[in-house]
Amino acid sequence: AWFRADSLRRVVDALRDDVGGPRIVGGAVRDTLIGVDVTDVDLATPFIPTAVIDRLESARIKAVPTGIDHGTVTAVVDGRNYEITTLRRDVATDGRRATVAFSTDWREDASRRDFTINALYADPYSGEVFDYFDGQSDLAAGTVRFIGDADQRIAEDFLRILRYFRFLARFGHGAIDTRALRACAKGVHGLTALSRERIAQELTRLMALSNPVLAVELMIDNGIFAPFLPELKDRAAAHLEQLYAREVAHHQKISLSARLLTLLPRDAIVVDRVAARLKLSNKLRDNLAKRVSTPDPSVRNIREIAYRSGMDCATDAAMLYADGEILRDCMAKLGTNSVPEFELKGGDLIALGLPAGTVVGKALHTVETSWISEDFPPRARQMEIARQLVGTLLSASK
Ligand code: ATP
Ligand code: MG
Repeated sequence: AWFRADSLRRVVDALRDDVGGPRIVGGAVRDTLIGVDVTDVDLATPFIPTAVIDRLESARIKAVPTGIDHGTVTAVVDGRNYEITTLRRDVATDGRRATVAFSTDWREDASRRDFTINALYADPYSGEVFDYFDGQSDLAAGTVRFIGDADQRIAEDFLRILRYFRFLARFGHGAIDTRALRACAKGVHGLTALSRERIAQELTRLMALSNPVLAVELMIDNGIFAPFLPELKDRAAAHLEQLYAREVAHHQKISLSARLLTLLPRDAIVVDRVAARLKLSNKLRDNLAKRVSTPDPSVRNIREIAYRSGMDCATDAAMLYADGEILRDCMAKLGTNSVPEFELKGGDLIALGLPAGTVVGKALHTVETSWISEDFPPRARQMEIARQLVGTLLSASK
């Protein structure tokens, strides 16, 4: 079951050894055990990185030293990447990055991982699972548990606070470990020491999950947003929950931008400040700006929003900023229509007798504006508007 791809078998064979490994580790084992599709397969090996590179190259596999200080080599086979990390132990941390030493002890490698459910290993040949901290029973019980003392593990790397909530949103369905929550709340000041990019990456991964509502609620209750998102809107979790309910009710996929906007006031300046602070990608920043600055959606303007900013933006704007009957009407109007298309070109106006020149672009824009205000009639009416305008322009220039 572990060799769904031939490329993985090639990598594993290259690292095969009588004394140990390689083993599949982390997310791939965890997700396979609960029947979730695996996209990334990470491997762990007792071989030091230079030996890993040698072995891969002998097997004619491309080896890229992607994180040699941390013991990580990436094997590239048939366009797939496999991260291969040498077993290690953390020797020192500053709350952001660990200094590591290589190890040949699997349990030691497991003990520096964050949560019990993330410290599972599998022998790719036999399928045997190695579980040093009861990760399988936590996975079955829906408990996200730190390996070792939560306070200490958080002090080693404060990003683990955000990871805790992300994994809780994905795998948590049982009792919540109140000690872990308290440790997160206590360590929250440490988030200010992390880079904004790492925080933003965790936040966007969390918000992209299929149901982050409970995790977000717990984060709010424990003051987790305060260091990096002081703009957090009142009752943000309720807004997020409502957005999810609407997504289900309207069979509509909502974007990451919409999810993020449930956390923020509807204020373009504030939203852009947050996007800049978190160094969000230009694309995400643009999408946020487009959504937050739409006019109040209504049945009258919703198609105009779709025309000007795209169907996804219009859907999100309605879901975020319309309610009740207005929301229903907006969705109905969007659902039965595609984005309106303005079909005229400058050439059409010239064919109607307008002399070529800058006047053409301006006239076309005027026609487009009338067409929008008439609620996007079809091409025949577009031509009609154009003919009238050209007639007026020509008679005025006589
Ligand atoms: P995902 O499906 O989200 O990628 P994953 O378990 O693969 O889940 P990654 O962030 O890709 O998570 O990390 C891979 C593994 O590395 C984790 O399963 C965990 O064992 C370990 N790990 C990653 N980040 C940390 C950290 N900050 N502290 C301790 N262990 C970590
Ligand atoms: Mg991963």
